Amino acid sequence: MDILDHKLRKIDRQNYRSYYSIKGKYELPDMTLFIDTVQSDPFASASRLRVFRAWSLTDLAWLKEQSADYQRAARDYLTRVFAGYTQQENALSIDKPGQTILDRTSVLFTDAGIELRFRAVLPADGRSILAKKAFQLLTETLATFVRRTTIARELDIEALKQHCEHVENQVALRAQLDEHNLIAFVADNSVLPRLAGNSQQPLENAIPFATPESLRVTLNTPHAGEISGMGIPKGVTLIVGGGFHGKSTLLNAIETGIYDHVLTDGRQWVVTSESAVKIRAEDGRCVHNLDLSPYINHLPGDRSTTAFSTQNASGSTSQAAWLQESLEAGASTLLIDEDSSATNFMIRDERMQALVASEQEPITPLVDRIAQLRDECDVSVLLVMGGSGDYLDMADTVIQMHDYQPVDVTEKAKAVVAAHPTQRLKEATDSLSRPRARKLNVGGLNQLLQQGKFRIQAKDLASLRFGKEWIDLGALSQLSSASQLHTAGWIWFALASQPGWLAQPTKQIAQQLMGEWYSTLPPYGDFAKPRAIDVMAALNRLRSAQFK
Ligand code: ADP
Ligand code: MG
Repeated sequence: MDILDHKLRKIDRQNYRSYYSIKGKYELPDMTLFIDTVQSDPFASASRLRVFRAWSLTDLAWLKEQSADYQRAARDYLTRVFAGYTQQENALSIDKPGQTILDRTSVLFTDAGIELRFRAVLPADGRSILAKKAFQLLTETLATFVRRTTIARELDIEALKQHCEHVENQVALRAQLDEHNLIAFVADNSVLPRLAGNSQQPLENAIPFATPESLRVTLNTPHAGEISGMGIPKGVTLIVGGGFHGKSTLLNAIETGIYDHVLTDGRQWVVTSESAVKIRAEDGRCVHNLDLSPYINHLPGDRSTTAFSTQNASGSTSQAAWLQESLEAGASTLLIDEDSSATNFMIRDERMQALVASEQEPITPLVDRIAQLRDECDVSVLLVMGGSGDYLDMADTVIQMHDYQPVDVTEKAKAVVAAHPTQRLKEATDSLSRPRARKLNVGGLNQLLQQGKFRIQAKDLASLRFGKEWIDLGALSQLSSASQLHTAGWIWFALASQPGWLAQPTKQIAQQLMGEWYSTLPPYGDFAKPRAIDVMAALNRLRSAQFK
């Protein structure tokens, strides 16, 4: 502490850049302070700091004995507590969690104690250093916040336990999906709709979810007993119903069920298989050497589609690409909404088949492949489809949303199929398999970074800068935090340490994300763990990526 005081006194009133001299490690009476990176001016992104507190000072060492999920939740809880304090002091900030409880680096538990990672804007008057203020900020304000965040008697331990047990419950529910042959589970009384299109808060006075008896499943939780709700079976499931009856709302809730949610979210008992992927049309995106032939074939000019590349995909091509990339990366379930799909990728009715011969149409619509996805590739599909009955023939389960409530209309749908047999010709006669895993040129990634002054930067949820390229990721609706993208960028960097072509990139990424995944990353507090599937999805959108 004296050393920090001494160093700060020496640079008082000097140019802001002199703050560089305080980089380092300082022992305060009951914590260790690390000043890791120092901003170059008062308006640059804030300096990165860490504080370490020994378990013995916290009365929280019992947390180390808990399950990995419990610890993840406890770390999240402490992050939220610290974030609350930083509202009293603008100069301090921590990577604040939203509705989901991710595995983050903002708070870490080590064998020795608790580490907090956060940012501070070092105080200045114009461009000159305010040393006394800096000393106060770091040794008083900050130290007080850290103590309050990491001493048992300062915390609401009941709330902490509830938060953690709640996460263990959700993990347990998700773990039971497979044995019940389900892809997702939506508990009774869940609140699915959000307050607004730009908010993840629950809608007030929403109609709570009520399970149709024929789809009722009861699952167990370690801390809340049995939970009953609607199970969505594996296979092909359609969500049908009139416009504005809550179809997309149900699907959106299911797509975020890959994450654990806070108690007040309303979707906290909605859980989904971790390898479920929401795909959509995304025209304009790039595609790299991908086999699209099951869906797109004999293009004009006889262009081959078994290794298809473009920097400007059409709606149908982009959706076919996302589907194939998801299967390549190990997706078990696809989530698709008609609202965000390319019509010609989804359907082609009998009249259009009669008018345009299949030799003149490059697209084999999903309706002709969906049963094969289930039967030959073991992939389930949950599809919102209110606009066409052509999928009814292949559906195992049909759920109608009516006045925001699900109704099991599977039997009724079968009767409709029998009474109105389809006149469509089936367009796919060949077999279907998962696309092969492409190789990734990781040497090329390295070049990209070198050309771009080594920038890895995530901006909100919609874009990631990697070297000189900004990657547009606005379509990846299953990302929950920009910090996941930040991690993705650093994982690419780790892969790029080897030269040349990397086989099985998904597997390599999954390996990087196992165990203490952050131990190979710089000591930043704004990393959150993404799924390997989403890291691959981002990589597929890197325009200068090379796959073969
Ligand atoms: P669809 O996809 O069937 O056209 P949406 O899911 O988009 O319908 O829902 C239409 C509107 O109804 C949205 O504004 C949504 O927030 C609202 N909504 C959905 N579910 C509920 C509910 N359970 N209670 C109240 N409002 C809801
Ligand atoms: Mg909709």
